[in-house]
Amino acid sequence: MHILIAEDDYTSRTMLRAVLQKAGHDVVATVDGDEAWQILQQEDSPKLLILDLLMPKMDGLEVVEKVRASQKKIPPYIIMLTSKGEKSDIIQGLDAGADDYLTKPFDVGELRARIEVGRRLLEMQKELIESRELLAHQATHDPMTDLLNRRAIMNNLQTALSRAQKNQTNIAVGMIDIDHFKRINDTYGHQVGDDVLIGLAQRLKQATSVQDHVSRFGGEEFLVFFPFTTKDEVEPLFSSLFSQVSGISLATRKGLIRITVSIGIALSKPGCSLDELVGFADKALYDAKETGRNKMVFA
Ligand code: GH3
Ligand code: MG
Ligand code: MG
Ligand code: MG
Repeated sequence: MHILIAEDDYTSRTMLRAVLQKAGHDVVATVDGDEAWQILQQEDSPKLLILDLLMPKMDGLEVVEKVRASQKKIPPYIIMLTSKGEKSDIIQGLDAGADDYLTKPFDVGELRARIEVGRRLLEMQKELIESRELLAHQATHDPMTDLLNRRAIMNNLQTALSRAQKNQTNIAVGMIDIDHFKRINDTYGHQVGDDVLIGLAQRLKQATSVQDHVSRFGGEEFLVFFPFTTKDEVEPLFSSLFSQVSGISLATRKGLIRITVSIGIALSKPGCSLDELVGFADKALYDAKETGRNKMVFA
């Protein structure tokens, strides 16, 4: 484990470092709080800190307070070093945000045991954060294409729409639907249909640089949006997108399959709601289907 020691006393610092290195840890030792704080601001800084309470330049309490205020994704585990194990010192350290303390002169067995407690806690915290991130990803993404799902894109679109209306800018929304997709399923089977959906999702990601603005809306329908779009920009924007996702051949387990799509496009108006905006795009998509498919229609 990567451990930082901040201790001005030479003997104590040297002993700590020797014991921890012997136990296989990667140790960086500093002589005051200032130097420790410099290191802690670097990327990938140590996650377990052993800080002496009394040090020149910046004392241990101040380092603890700064570390706790800096809100790292995984907060470091902090062990305070106190000289005589004064109760008031210990209380002050723990109050400031330290996790544990060691009294000098320290016992090697106790030091090892307390480091192990810290390591276990850090490991647990890391696993918790990872599982929380995984759950958040699963709640907002479509498992098959890994695009945002409908709920997530509607959230993003609502946020963007509120901002657009405050700044008097516009958002362009495109509802994209694969033409005669049922035929692909009927001809080649559902798995090939899935390959097509995954392939198209990939193309959509490439065609729209911001992943937060692309989604699988449901089935073989995809919704994309572009904030800060003026009336003049809508046509070229979607023409470019259309050329990248319609009339293309996608790789599937049964070879290349050509698809076309229809797109319904709507530009937000002052005061229009999210449902209205998506409704306009939907209506335009319906018109595109009615009038021959493989085309874009503007609301
Ligand atoms: P249109 O041009 O009018 O859009 O015709 P279409 O055949 O694409 O539209 P329709 O709504 O009739 O059929 C959509 C099909 O998409 C029906 C459904 O089984 C299929 N589908 C929806 N989700 C999935 C999926 O996750 N995988 C596969 N393979 N098919 C899906
Ligand atoms: Mg000291
Ligand atoms: Mg459809
Ligand atoms: Mg379709």
